[in-house]
Amino acid sequence: MARLQAKYPGEKEYLQAVQEVLESVEDVYNQHPEFEQAKIVERMVEPDRIFTFRVTWVDDNGEVQTNTGYRVQFNSAIGPYKGGLRFHRAVTPSMLKFLGFEQTFKNALTTLPMGGAKGGSDFDPVGKSNDEIMRFCQAFMMELWQCIGPDQDIPAGDVGVGGREIGYLYGMYKKLAREYNTGVLTGKGSTWGGSILRPEATGFGALYFTQNLLHKAGKDIKGCRVAVSGFGNVAWGACIKATELGAKVVAISGPDGVCEIPDGITKEMIDYMLVMRASNRNRVEDMADKFPGACKFTAGKKAWSVKCDIALPCAFQNELSEDDARELKANGCWCCCEVSNMGCQPGAIHFFQHNGVLFAPGKAVNAGGVATSGLEMTQNASHISWSGKEVDDKLHFIMDSIHEQCVKYGTQPDGTIDYVKGANIAGFMKVATAMLEQGTI
Ligand code: GLU
Repeated sequence: MARLQAKYPGEKEYLQAVQEVLESVEDVYNQHPEFEQAKIVERMVEPDRIFTFRVTWVDDNGEVQTNTGYRVQFNSAIGPYKGGLRFHRAVTPSMLKFLGFEQTFKNALTTLPMGGAKGGSDFDPVGKSNDEIMRFCQAFMMELWQCIGPDQDIPAGDVGVGGREIGYLYGMYKKLAREYNTGVLTGKGSTWGGSILRPEATGFGALYFTQNLLHKAGKDIKGCRVAVSGFGNVAWGACIKATELGAKVVAISGPDGVCEIPDGITKEMIDYMLVMRASNRNRVEDMADKFPGACKFTAGKKAWSVKCDIALPCAFQNELSEDDARELKANGCWCCCEVSNMGCQPGAIHFFQHNGVLFAPGKAVNAGGVATSGLEMTQNASHISWSGKEVDDKLHFIMDSIHEQCVKYGTQPDGTIDYVKGANIAGFMKVATAMLEQGTI
């Protein structure tokens, strides 16, 4: 860690993600001198390569705009590079390195053969028109296409990149590469190679994992009040499945504040989340404007200020601080399943783990998204498409298996389960073993 801090000063998120994993695997690592001899950790924390490129496009006023694009190919020990693209004004190499690092372990947990990658741009989709989004995606792909391929590196969506963006990106890829293999991107439209349930998969998988965790703790999700942060694709899927399982989603949030929904979110509201996302306004207050009786908007507050049993961070890294964790606990919350990547700050995780709040980390909880991307790749490669039931059954099976791996590697001498350790050690062992077997490369 000291070496990395000196080499990459200021890469806050990246160093945070590495620190968490190294702390978790320390004991296991020390039991394997062959890992130490092959310098597995030193190799594993460095991305295989990072592509950086200029993206120039023209906005609706005819003005030329320039952004920076990246693709971080982190680790290919267990399969081709796989991971999403994030379009957000705060994107930096540090953010994408942390996400690529996390993705490597997450993908290892899915049981599918996928390496880890992440990419994106500091392009800010907020307030952009549909045409601007399309022109940006096309300009971005003009550089990215040379770095990716259905057997090399397969991007997908992440914050700011959904089905619409994947459509524009694929259109340009096809034109440039003259290659009509839809498997180069996942999260595609359902009429042209996209998997049924891929849009819902991250949220659905998160709830399957949560159910497993609750059952293991002798609890049931039925009747629980759930606070969700965000209102994008992940939050949307989580709201659908939580409601279907009999829980009550009492809050969703945005950068502008929180919408409290005392009677629980309705189908109309869940559908409206899609409209809000497509508008690029990035305002959750729009929900309260649309459903004034049922939703109460409070500016500047987070979802964690609302009384709940279960907290589901579904928005952005470090969105839940130690103070938020204390407020949640004081308000009766007893479980937090992190759905966003590294959604909880280290102090919040520490507080949960030492104060009787069940906690599971994003790389286990949210792995259903990329797992279903893996299922989309399988369907594309075999030129078939599965029914919703087939995909859902497979997703459910994968989430059960991820939970089992966490229990296997995370059960402590006192019988409690440390899901952070469990997920990190399970992912690490798989990647480390593969690296060792493939020699010093
Ligand atoms: N961006 C998602 C994640 O963080 C999905 C990646 C993918 O489907 O490749 O796992």
